[in-house]
Amino acid sequence: MNYRQKKVGILGGGQLGRMIYEEVLKWDLDLHFMDKDRSFPVGKVCPLFTEGDFTKYEDVLAFGQDKDIVTIEIESVNLEALLELRKQGVTIHPSPDALKIIKDKGLQKMFYEANEIPSSNFQLYQDVESIKSDIANGNLNYPFVQKARTGGYDGKGVAVIRSEQDLMKLLPSASLVEDMVPIEKEIGLIVARNENGETQVYDPVEMVFDEEANLVDYLFAPASLPNGIEKKAKDIAIELITKLNICGLLAVEYFLDKNGHLLVNEVAPRCHNSGHHSIEACETSQFEQHIRGVMNMPLGNVALTTPAVMVNLLGQPEVSGPVHYEGMKSCLAKGNVHLHFYGKEETKPSRKMGHATITDKDLQKAIEKAKFVKNHLKVTV
Ligand code: ADP
Repeated sequence: MNYRQKKVGILGGGQLGRMIYEEVLKWDLDLHFMDKDRSFPVGKVCPLFTEGDFTKYEDVLAFGQDKDIVTIEIESVNLEALLELRKQGVTIHPSPDALKIIKDKGLQKMFYEANEIPSSNFQLYQDVESIKSDIANGNLNYPFVQKARTGGYDGKGVAVIRSEQDLMKLLPSASLVEDMVPIEKEIGLIVARNENGETQVYDPVEMVFDEEANLVDYLFAPASLPNGIEKKAKDIAIELITKLNICGLLAVEYFLDKNGHLLVNEVAPRCHNSGHHSIEACETSQFEQHIRGVMNMPLGNVALTTPAVMVNLLGQPEVSGPVHYEGMKSCLAKGNVHLHFYGKEETKPSRKMGHATITDKDLQKAIEKAKFVKNHLKVTV
C-alpha cells in the first residue's frame, strides 16, 4: 500500500488540524485542509490549504471531489455534502451516519439507550414551554441539566437548573434534559479503529474543570480510578467505536458518580483535548493515530510512556486583541514543560490559545509544575 499516493482532505483548520499536520509531517503525506481563512492555525503552516466554509454544501463538495479520503477535525461540517461525496466514491471517516448521530446530543442519548450503554436518564424537549409544563405537572424535578441538541461546545449549550430561580437560564432550542449526576470524577479516553476492525484504546485521563470557563483546567494521565473502572471504560469505548462503525478516533467522556457507576457523558469522532498529552506521553500521539485509522494503516502502540499533566492555555478574562505570550522563559526553565501555541492571532476571554504538557515519572511533581505554568504563562495582549 502506497499511502503517499492517497490524497487526504481534512475539514477544519484549527489547532487539532494543525497538530495532525505537525505529527504526520514526517511521513510526507498528501494532506489537504479546508477552513475559512488562511490565517487560521493550519493555514499558517500547511501550504495545501483551501479557503472555504466546511458548513457549506458546495464548498465541502468541491473540496472533497478530488480526494481519496475525507476526514474532519470538527463535527459541525456539512453532512449532506459528505453523503454525496460517499456516493461518488470518496471514503469518508468518520462515517456520515455516525456523524449524524453524534452531532445531535438527543440522537446520541437515544443511541446509548438502544445499545444499553450506561448514561444518565433523559427526556427530549422541543421548547422551554414544554419543560416548564413538565415541571408544573410533576414529570420533571429539580435539579436537572438541559443541553441544546446541536451546536454546543466547551460547555456552551449546557444549562444547570437547580431551582425555579435558574429557569431564566433555560436554552430556547430543541434540547434534552438529563438527570444531574453526582459527579465524583470526570474521565476521558481516546479509542482508535481502522477499516480492518483493529482497535487500540488509550488509558483514561482525569479531567479537572475551570468552573467559570467550563473548560478543562488540568488533565492528569494516568487517571486514578477504583478497581475495575479502567477496564469498564475501555470495554465501553471499544463497543461504541465498533457499533458506530467509526474509523479514526472516538473520544469518549465519562462521569464516575459518587456511587461508583460509570456513565458515558458524550463522544466526539475526532482528535480531542483529552488526548493532547499523547504527543509527549504516549508511544503514538492521537494525531498520528487518527491518520493511521482513517488511512487503514496498522494502528500504533498507545502505551503511556510517562505520567503527564496537560494544562490548557486560555485567553485571560476580559482581554481581547493580538496575542502575546508572557512567561515562556521561566516555564521552559522548569524542564519537561512542553509548550504548544496554536498560532491564533487574536486572544479572547477563555479562548483555547495553546496547551502545555508536563511529563514527570512522579505525577505529583508534574502537577506542581503544571500549577506553575498555569500561574506564570500568561496569554495576553
Ligand atoms: P460540552 O459538549 O459543551 O463539553 P458537556 O455535555 O460535556 O458539554 O457538559 C459540560 C460540563 O457540564 C461537563 O463536563 C460536566 O461538568 C457538566 N455536566 C454535563 N452534564 C451533566 C450532568 N448530567 N450532571 C452533572 N453535570 C453535568
